Amino acid sequence: MSVVNHVIEHNVCVISMANKPVNALSKQIRVGLIEAMHVALNNDNVNAIVITSELALFSAGADITEFSGGDLSPMLPEVLDVIENSTKPVVAAVNGGAFGGGLELALSCHYRVTVEGNKVGLPEVHLGILPGAGGTQRLPRLLPAAQALQMIVSGAPTKASHIPSLFEKVVDASSLLKVAIELAVDVASKPIPRASDVKLSMNKETEEVISQTQAMVDAKSRGFFAPSHCIKAVKAAFELPFAEGLKREGELFMECMNTPQARAQQHFFFAERAAGALPTIAKDTATRDIKSVGIIGAGTMGGGIAMNFANAGIPIVMLELEQANLDKGLSVIRRNYENSAKKGKLSAEQVEQRMAMFTGTTEYSDLSDVDLVIEAVFEKMSVKKDVFQTLDKVCKPGAILASNTSTLDLNEIAQSTSRPQDVIGLHFFSPANVMKLLEIVKGEETSDEVIKTSMKLAKTIKKVGVLVGVCFGFVGNRMIEVYGREANRLMLEGATPEQVDAVIYKFGLPMGPFTMGDMAGLDIGYFVRQSRQEFIKHDPSYCTVADELVVAGRVGLKAGKGVYLYESGSRKPIPDAEVIDIAKRRASELGIEQREISEQEILERCIYPLINEGANILSEGIAQRSSDIDVIYVYGYGFPVYRGGPMKYADEIGLSQILERMKHYQATLGEYGEHWFTPSPLLQELVKNEQTFASYQAK
Ligand code: NAD
Repeated sequence: MSVVNHVIEHNVCVISMANKPVNALSKQIRVGLIEAMHVALNNDNVNAIVITSELALFSAGADITEFSGGDLSPMLPEVLDVIENSTKPVVAAVNGGAFGGGLELALSCHYRVTVEGNKVGLPEVHLGILPGAGGTQRLPRLLPAAQALQMIVSGAPTKASHIPSLFEKVVDASSLLKVAIELAVDVASKPIPRASDVKLSMNKETEEVISQTQAMVDAKSRGFFAPSHCIKAVKAAFELPFAEGLKREGELFMECMNTPQARAQQHFFFAERAAGALPTIAKDTATRDIKSVGIIGAGTMGGGIAMNFANAGIPIVMLELEQANLDKGLSVIRRNYENSAKKGKLSAEQVEQRMAMFTGTTEYSDLSDVDLVIEAVFEKMSVKKDVFQTLDKVCKPGAILASNTSTLDLNEIAQSTSRPQDVIGLHFFSPANVMKLLEIVKGEETSDEVIKTSMKLAKTIKKVGVLVGVCFGFVGNRMIEVYGREANRLMLEGATPEQVDAVIYKFGLPMGPFTMGDMAGLDIGYFVRQSRQEFIKHDPSYCTVADELVVAGRVGLKAGKGVYLYESGSRKPIPDAEVIDIAKRRASELGIEQREISEQEILERCIYPLINEGANILSEGIAQRSSDIDVIYVYGYGFPVYRGGPMKYADEIGLSQILERMKHYQATLGEYGEHWFTPSPLLQELVKNEQTFASYQAK
């Protein structure tokens, strides 16, 4: 079966794409399209042409595995040239989603028809590039400037009904091909309307739209290279004739393509997809149906977790021991939904539908029939064990018993039940109804069926599930601890919190470590450190200022003061000289000489040890692949996607550079450096073998 087929009906040549699974516009399909166009153009019985797809999607766009090079001729713009300059009219029958090159293909056709509810888009900006096959020149010729810009700069899929000027007709799916052929017959002898023939010129209104879009990009896409380039390309459509505009688009495309950002964002595209793969689990492993869920604890996390299930239409039994806590938890959930309704994201009816998914209880027996229970009670082993022992007694056989613990030993929790094979960690990130990441923690005895079901469940509730193993803090929090420790140590050595936060913000994270700590609550880290004295007792400098702040009741934003001060009702951190004084005093007690610290040193000392810990995690097999760590950091901690995640960032700047700087700080920071800057054996091995994290396969 060929990837491009054609048949001739009613003097119309219907060319259909069938490159499974999504009609990626790979070389084979490009060759096929040109050949089919030539057949149609050279056949005197053909008066018009229809291009459509035999698959559910019209086309998902470029085959991005081709981005790494090779013989790619003919390139997509050449194919689109043949279509647009066809002497016989071409109708695109856009039967399903048309994205990127797929939409550009449709734009090069002379007419478009589509089906009700269909979506199209130009998502290239998410790969750090811009539409490079005429999209930035043709779309503004077919749509109002504001809509074209919005689609190109946001990369978001747009409903066909929102962009009616792009389509001749929007019909129901069953009649699409018939309508497309009828249209082709109808226009066969009419002048051909080509997007490239539309004359555009810059005017005040368009200038205004462009500058508003630029302002929006500056505010919302801080640090990203591609969005401004998208705007430049669209601007060229208004300032240059079509052919020159295409040339300019090509230049801007190449400028994007050659950036580390494009490499990083394309890496991340694959990383996200790779995270779902479970190579060690047999393909025919069954999954369990999850039709109802129990949540233990209606606090910060329990409430947020439950909302994900309500949003997915899965009923929840919510358990607290005290009725007052249950009422409080449910009222917070209602308030969250009502706030969404105020912002126009939900209707009043939808709020009620979501709330109707909840049943509150204080009785464990009400969990006897649920398919999955997620525990989100206090982070204390004895409490967790009590809960799991009770669940073991009341839950039906085959129910999955999950813990949302951030740091505790999942194997120990599992062993408190008679069914450790059914116990798994489902580690959500706060706010749990918003953050996309779900660390799925596999215990020693967790069954493949439970793992596979959990990965599938992540998709159902619109999360990105990443499988990790058991260790302190799993992947995300184990690495973040290193980063937080280093930020605190830098404060002792003379850096101010705002200086450290500014460096990290400039690097691209949404906030620095001190702002993040205040927001999460400094008490959380404090209690974790208290429970890990064995690990840190030999080092009195370890977060000593943070400990003093917590003891003084300065636990962060919720107390109005932590490392920073906060005015009532405000989340804006205000630097506090008192904290600098505490750091000075503590430094002097510990014999640490304070000094000026450069931005470069702050960045290296916060990020490189985090990467080094990532290497340890990888070599221990706690993460399946380095790209999984990247997914965890982008979706769980706001690591800038344009750097690809910490491991990709390391690969990009070179592992030898990370190793050299780790050794430098190991040698220059005294005992502290000697202990905490020990290079990971894996990092050393990879540097020796001139390998990258991406090329390393966990053994
Ligand atoms: P929280 O204090 O806001 O909520 C805990 C809730 O559990 C309270 O409402 C409490 O009444 C209830 N509870 C306590 N013991 C119970 C029991 N035996 N039976 C039923 N209910 C009980 O705490 P949280 O921040 O939601 O954290 C819950 C869990 O989630 C912890 O294990 C924590 O480590 C983990 N976690 C927290 C975050 C975060 O950022 N807050 C992130 C990821 C994971």
